[in-house]
Amino acid sequence: MHRPTVHHLDCAPMRPLGGPPLVAHCLLVVTGGGLLLVDTGFGSADVADPRRLGGMFRRSMRPGLAPERTAVRQIAALGYDPADVRDIVLTHLDLDHAGGLADFPGARVHIMADEYRAAMRRETRSDISRYRPAQWAHGPRWVVHDTADTDWHGFAASRVLRSPDVLLVPLPGHTRGHAAVAVQQPERWLLHAGDAYYFHGETDTRRPRCPRGLSLIQRMVADDHRLRLAQLERLRELRRTDGVVRIFSAHDTREFTALGEETGRTLH
Ligand SMILES: [Zn+2]
Repeated sequence: MHRPTVHHLDCAPMRPLGGPPLVAHCLLVVTGGGLLLVDTGFGSADVADPRRLGGMFRRSMRPGLAPERTAVRQIAALGYDPADVRDIVLTHLDLDHAGGLADFPGARVHIMADEYRAAMRRETRSDISRYRPAQWAHGPRWVVHDTADTDWHGFAASRVLRSPDVLLVPLPGHTRGHAAVAVQQPERWLLHAGDAYYFHGETDTRRPRCPRGLSLIQRMVADDHRLRLAQLERLRELRRTDGVVRIFSAHDTREFTALGEETGRTLH
Protein backbone atom coordinates (compact mmCIF):
# COMPACT_ATOMS: atom_id res chain seq x y z
CA MET A 1 0.00 0.00 0.00
CA HIS A 2 1.24 3.46 -0.88
CA ARG A 3 1.55 5.58 2.24
CA PRO A 4 0.95 9.32 2.20
CA THR A 5 3.86 11.23 3.67
CA VAL A 6 1.63 13.49 5.75
CA HIS A 7 -1.38 12.53 7.85
CA HIS A 8 -3.77 15.13 9.26
CA LEU A 9 -4.93 14.41 12.83
CA ASP A 10 -7.46 16.29 14.97
CA CYS A 11 -6.13 15.74 18.48
CA ALA A 12 -8.38 18.12 20.39
CA PRO A 13 -11.84 19.01 19.10
CA MET A 14 -13.26 22.02 20.97
CA ARG A 15 -16.65 23.73 21.17
CA PRO A 16 -15.85 27.25 22.38
CA LEU A 17 -18.60 29.34 23.91
CA GLY A 18 -19.73 31.89 21.34
CA GLY A 19 -17.82 30.43 18.40
CA PRO A 20 -17.98 27.59 15.84
CA PRO A 21 -16.48 24.16 16.64
CA LEU A 22 -12.69 24.00 16.36
CA VAL A 23 -10.20 21.24 15.65
CA ALA A 24 -6.60 20.90 16.82
CA HIS A 25 -4.91 20.13 13.52
CA CYS A 26 -1.72 18.12 14.04
CA LEU A 27 0.49 16.68 11.30
CA LEU A 28 2.15 13.31 11.30
CA VAL A 29 5.00 13.45 8.78
CA VAL A 30 6.67 10.26 7.60
CA THR A 31 10.37 11.05 7.14
CA GLY A 32 13.31 8.98 6.02
CA GLY A 33 14.41 8.49 9.61
CA GLY A 34 11.12 7.96 11.39
CA LEU A 35 8.13 10.10 12.24
CA LEU A 36 7.74 13.80 12.92
CA LEU A 37 4.77 15.36 14.64
CA VAL A 38 3.67 19.00 14.28
CA ASP A 39 1.80 19.98 17.49
CA THR A 40 0.38 17.38 19.85
CA GLY A 41 -3.13 18.47 20.97
CA PHE A 42 -4.13 17.03 24.33
CA GLY A 43 -2.37 13.95 25.69
CA SER A 44 -3.19 10.87 27.72
CA ALA A 45 -2.48 12.66 31.01
CA ASP A 46 -4.89 15.51 30.08
CA VAL A 47 -7.60 12.95 29.36
CA ALA A 48 -6.90 11.14 32.64
CA ASP A 49 -6.94 14.36 34.66
CA PRO A 50 -8.66 17.27 32.84
CA ARG A 51 -8.16 19.47 35.91
CA ARG A 52 -4.61 20.05 34.79
CA LEU A 53 -5.97 22.21 31.95
CA GLY A 54 -7.57 24.66 34.40
CA GLY A 55 -11.27 25.34 34.96
CA MET A 56 -11.42 28.54 32.88
CA PHE A 57 -10.11 26.87 29.76
CA ARG A 58 -12.41 23.86 30.12
CA ARG A 59 -15.50 26.03 30.64
CA SER A 60 -14.80 28.47 27.79
CA MET A 61 -13.24 26.18 25.14
CA ARG A 62 -15.04 22.93 26.12
CA PRO A 63 -12.47 20.43 24.81
CA GLY A 64 -13.65 16.96 23.79
CA LEU A 65 -11.23 14.79 25.74
CA ALA A 66 -11.10 11.11 24.78
CA PRO A 67 -8.22 8.59 24.80
CA GLU A 68 -8.76 7.69 21.13
CA ARG A 69 -8.35 11.37 20.16
CA THR A 70 -4.79 11.60 21.47
CA ALA A 71 -1.97 11.69 18.92
CA VAL A 72 -0.36 8.60 20.43
CA ARG A 73 -3.51 6.52 19.94
CA GLN A 74 -4.20 7.87 16.45
CA ILE A 75 -0.63 7.14 15.34
CA ALA A 76 -0.95 3.55 16.59
CA ALA A 77 -4.36 3.22 14.87
CA LEU A 78 -2.70 4.23 11.56
CA GLY A 79 -0.32 1.29 12.00
CA TYR A 80 2.79 3.19 13.11
CA ASP A 81 4.83 2.73 16.26
CA PRO A 82 4.55 5.89 18.42
CA ALA A 83 8.11 5.20 19.60
CA ASP A 84 9.23 6.09 16.05
CA VAL A 85 8.24 9.74 16.62
CA ARG A 86 11.76 11.21 16.71
CA ASP A 87 10.89 14.90 16.39
CA ILE A 88 8.02 17.07 17.56
CA VAL A 89 7.76 20.61 16.21
CA LEU A 90 5.54 22.93 18.22
CA THR A 91 3.94 26.10 16.86
CA HIS A 92 3.79 27.25 20.49
CA LEU A 93 3.39 25.90 24.00
CA ASP A 94 -0.30 26.64 24.67
CA LEU A 95 -2.05 23.84 26.50
CA ASP A 96 -4.03 22.64 23.46
CA HIS A 97 -0.79 22.16 21.49
CA ALA A 98 1.69 20.80 24.06
CA GLY A 99 -0.56 18.34 25.94
CA GLY A 100 0.67 15.25 24.13
CA LEU A 101 4.39 15.79 24.78
CA ALA A 102 4.60 13.24 27.60
CA ASP A 103 3.24 10.51 25.31
CA PHE A 104 6.50 10.77 23.31
CA PRO A 105 9.22 11.03 25.97
CA GLY A 106 12.03 10.05 23.59
CA ALA A 107 11.31 12.70 20.94
CA ARG A 108 13.29 15.87 20.36
CA VAL A 109 10.97 18.85 20.89
CA HIS A 110 11.64 21.83 18.62
CA ILE A 111 10.48 25.27 19.73
CA MET A 112 11.44 28.91 19.11
CA ALA A 113 13.54 30.40 21.92
CA ASP A 114 11.12 33.28 22.68
CA GLU A 115 8.31 30.78 23.19
CA TYR A 116 10.41 28.50 25.37
CA ARG A 117 11.41 31.42 27.60
CA ALA A 118 7.86 32.78 27.91
CA ALA A 119 6.49 29.36 28.86
CA MET A 120 9.22 28.62 31.39
CA ARG A 121 8.95 32.08 33.03
CA ARG A 122 5.13 32.46 33.02
CA GLU A 123 5.43 36.13 33.99
CA THR A 124 1.88 37.35 33.31
CA ARG A 125 -1.50 36.16 34.48
CA SER A 126 -2.41 35.12 30.95
CA ASP A 127 0.86 33.18 30.59
CA ILE A 128 0.10 31.36 33.84
CA SER A 129 -3.23 30.13 32.50
CA ARG A 130 -2.09 29.28 28.96
CA TYR A 131 1.19 27.50 29.79
CA ARG A 132 0.77 24.38 31.96
CA PRO A 133 4.10 23.10 33.36
CA ALA A 134 2.51 19.71 34.13
CA GLN A 135 2.58 19.07 30.37
CA TRP A 136 6.41 19.14 30.32
CA ALA A 137 7.13 17.92 33.87
CA HIS A 138 8.63 14.72 32.41
CA GLY A 139 11.55 16.74 30.99
CA PRO A 140 11.33 16.74 27.17
CA ARG A 141 14.48 16.73 25.04
CA TRP A 142 14.11 20.41 24.09
CA VAL A 143 15.76 21.74 20.96
CA VAL A 144 15.48 25.50 21.37
CA HIS A 145 15.82 27.42 18.09
CA ASP A 146 17.21 30.88 18.75
CA THR A 147 18.13 31.92 15.23
CA ALA A 148 15.91 32.26 12.21
CA ASP A 149 18.51 32.83 9.52
CA THR A 150 17.20 30.80 6.61
CA ASP A 151 15.02 32.45 3.98
CA TRP A 152 11.75 30.66 3.32
CA HIS A 153 9.52 32.41 0.73
CA GLY A 154 10.57 35.79 2.10
CA PHE A 155 10.14 34.79 5.75
CA ALA A 156 13.00 34.27 8.17
CA ALA A 157 13.00 30.63 9.26
CA SER A 158 14.90 28.09 11.31
CA ARG A 159 15.56 24.67 9.85
CA VAL A 160 14.38 21.62 11.79
CA LEU A 161 14.97 18.83 9.29
CA ARG A 162 16.10 18.06 5.76
CA SER A 163 14.37 15.51 3.55
CA PRO A 164 11.64 16.42 3.76
CA ASP A 165 12.49 20.03 4.56
CA VAL A 166 10.80 21.15 7.76
CA LEU A 167 11.23 24.70 9.06
CA LEU A 168 10.02 26.83 11.94
CA VAL A 169 8.77 30.18 10.60
CA PRO A 170 8.37 32.73 13.43
CA LEU A 171 4.98 34.51 13.40
CA PRO A 172 4.75 36.07 16.88
CA GLY A 173 1.58 37.74 18.12
CA HIS A 174 -0.70 35.00 19.41
CA THR A 175 2.11 34.16 21.84
CA ARG A 176 5.59 35.62 22.33
CA GLY A 177 7.43 33.01 20.26
CA HIS A 178 4.63 31.63 18.13
CA ALA A 179 5.77 30.11 14.81
CA ALA A 180 4.31 28.44 11.76
CA VAL A 181 5.79 25.15 10.57
CA ALA A 182 6.60 24.64 6.87
CA VAL A 183 6.70 21.06 5.57
CA GLN A 184 7.88 20.30 2.05
CA GLN A 185 5.87 17.93 -0.10
CA PRO A 186 6.75 16.75 -3.62
CA GLU A 187 4.88 19.56 -5.42
CA ARG A 188 4.01 22.08 -2.77
CA TRP A 189 4.61 23.27 0.75
CA LEU A 190 2.28 22.83 3.68
CA LEU A 191 2.34 25.77 6.10
CA HIS A 192 0.82 24.87 9.45
CA ALA A 193 0.14 28.40 10.66
CA GLY A 194 -0.70 27.36 14.23
CA ASP A 195 -2.81 30.02 15.95
CA ALA A 196 -1.79 32.88 13.63
CA TYR A 197 -5.53 32.78 12.81
CA TYR A 198 -8.48 30.54 13.70
CA PHE A 199 -10.86 30.90 10.74
CA HIS A 200 -10.23 30.20 7.04
CA GLY A 201 -11.90 33.48 5.98
CA GLU A 202 -9.14 35.45 7.72
CA THR A 203 -6.66 34.61 4.97
CA ASP A 204 -9.07 35.52 2.17
CA THR A 205 -7.05 37.87 -0.01
CA ARG A 206 -10.00 39.98 -1.17
CA ARG A 207 -12.46 40.11 1.70
CA PRO A 208 -10.96 38.80 4.95
CA ARG A 209 -13.59 37.89 7.53
CA CYS A 210 -14.01 36.06 10.83
CA PRO A 211 -17.09 35.24 12.96
CA ARG A 212 -17.36 37.83 15.72
CA GLY A 213 -17.08 35.32 18.56
CA LEU A 214 -13.81 33.94 17.20
CA SER A 215 -12.42 37.45 16.64
CA LEU A 216 -13.09 38.28 20.28
CA ILE A 217 -11.49 35.08 21.54
CA GLN A 218 -8.39 35.72 19.43
CA ARG A 219 -8.09 39.31 20.60
CA MET A 220 -8.48 38.21 24.22
CA VAL A 221 -5.84 35.50 24.11
CA ALA A 222 -3.28 37.31 21.92
CA ASP A 223 -0.02 38.24 23.56
CA ASP A 224 0.21 41.13 21.05
CA HIS A 225 -3.00 41.68 19.07
CA ARG A 226 -1.58 44.21 16.57
CA LEU A 227 1.45 42.08 15.88
CA ARG A 228 -0.82 39.09 15.18
CA LEU A 229 -2.81 41.12 12.66
CA ALA A 230 0.41 42.27 10.95
CA GLN A 231 1.58 38.65 10.62
CA LEU A 232 -1.81 37.67 9.24
CA GLU A 233 -1.40 40.30 6.51
CA ARG A 234 1.95 38.71 5.62
CA LEU A 235 0.18 35.35 5.24
CA ARG A 236 -2.41 36.95 2.92
CA GLU A 237 0.41 38.44 0.87
CA LEU A 238 2.00 34.99 0.62
CA ARG A 239 -1.31 33.57 -0.63
CA ARG A 240 -1.59 36.39 -3.18
CA THR A 241 1.85 35.87 -4.63
CA ASP A 242 2.72 32.23 -4.13
CA GLY A 243 0.81 29.32 -5.59
CA VAL A 244 2.82 26.50 -4.08
CA VAL A 245 2.18 27.09 -0.37
CA ARG A 246 -0.94 25.60 1.22
CA ILE A 247 -1.63 27.60 4.39
CA PHE A 248 -3.89 26.33 7.15
CA SER A 249 -4.67 27.12 10.76
CA ALA A 250 -4.42 24.78 13.74
CA HIS A 251 -8.09 25.27 14.54
CA ASP A 252 -10.14 25.71 11.36
CA THR A 253 -12.55 22.83 10.73
CA ARG A 254 -13.04 23.44 7.01
CA GLU A 255 -9.32 23.52 6.22
CA PHE A 256 -8.80 20.36 8.25
CA THR A 257 -11.54 18.49 6.39
CA ALA A 258 -10.29 19.65 2.96
CA LEU A 259 -6.70 18.61 3.64
CA GLY A 260 -7.79 15.26 5.07
CA GLU A 261 -9.75 14.52 1.92
CA GLU A 262 -6.80 15.46 -0.32
CA THR A 263 -4.56 13.14 1.65
CA GLY A 264 -7.19 10.42 1.57
CA ARG A 265 -7.08 10.46 -2.23
CA THR A 266 -3.45 9.41 -2.14
CA LEU A 267 -4.35 6.22 -0.25
CA HIS A 268 -4.89 3.19 -2.44
ZN1 LIG B 1 -4.55 26.83 19.97
